[in-house]
Amino acid sequence: MQLPREVIVGKGTLDRIPEVTKRLHLKGKALVMSDSVCYDLAGLAVSDFLAQSGLSVDFLLVKTMTAKDVSEIENQIRELKPQVLFGVGGGTIIDAAKISSRSQNIPFISVPTTVSHDGIASPLASIKGSDKPYSVLAQAPLAIIADTNVIAKAPWRFVISGCGDVIAKFTAVKDWKLAHLEKNEYYGEYAASLALMSAKLVIENAELIVNHKDEGLRVLLEALISCGVAMSIAGSSRPCSGSEHLFSHALDIVNSNHAMHGEQCGLGTILMAYFYRGNWKRIRSALKLIGAPTTAKELGVSKGDVVKALELAVRIRPERYTILQKLKPDLEECEKAAKATGIID
Ligand SMILES: [Zn+2]
Repeated sequence: MQLPREVIVGKGTLDRIPEVTKRLHLKGKALVMSDSVCYDLAGLAVSDFLAQSGLSVDFLLVKTMTAKDVSEIENQIRELKPQVLFGVGGGTIIDAAKISSRSQNIPFISVPTTVSHDGIASPLASIKGSDKPYSVLAQAPLAIIADTNVIAKAPWRFVISGCGDVIAKFTAVKDWKLAHLEKNEYYGEYAASLALMSAKLVIENAELIVNHKDEGLRVLLEALISCGVAMSIAGSSRPCSGSEHLFSHALDIVNSNHAMHGEQCGLGTILMAYFYRGNWKRIRSALKLIGAPTTAKELGVSKGDVVKALELAVRIRPERYTILQKLKPDLEECEKAAKATGIID
């Protein structure tokens, strides 16, 4: 089990970098990885604080993250020989930092600039264009430094996506339990409870998230970090990724002009809760309150694509047993579910 040793969340936390590097005994060279936007937002400040702490700092600009990009980053790490890698950015940068640091055997520190998904603290990462559209095990961050002054600058849609990714844990945990009961899969009560509690807290605090952005951001960040920790405890994405994520991955394949990950997962959660005969209306209300898309139209995809993705989802990851594997809904049943939940008319 790999867990972060330092989690620092709040306003202006970047200036606590010298204190963190001291506590973690970081010395020598640090490599800071970011894209051009996040460099201006936080990368430059991170580099400055590291230099103030007596570390020598190299900077690596990352534009995209394909398998080829990752191997180039790994070459750079081999050449520059940093003792620690800082990933400063959104999902793509953090994932790139996770994968490349793991393969080069150095720790990485997560400095998120958005709250769009739970990868900021999880040990899992995905590579675009790989044969696996879902996340694979890499390594957990040694520390997470989340500055809400930086994160608050990102568009509101990122917050919506983050909420959707946390609310998705309602059905992810149900799927995990189902796999345990029917397929005798390992099920960790503690990891499951942590993921579920995060989802409950986000729903309970939906109004706070919408009306009191600072405080709400903190609730969401803590929920996302807890989800990452739940995955570290479980040693897999099981507590956080179930049939609703399979639907989102399928939608990425069916419609390349897809919406944000958490937006798709949120919509998927309504559908999967319906298949479970659960309280899908409560999930839909919470998503609506936050301003998340709850129809195909709001998500920006066609009715046909939603139905197609829902039918395809079961084949995305055959080894992951979920409600979809149990029910194996055909196109007609998928359409019925999408209509019943008001996702399509
Ligand atoms: Zn997710």
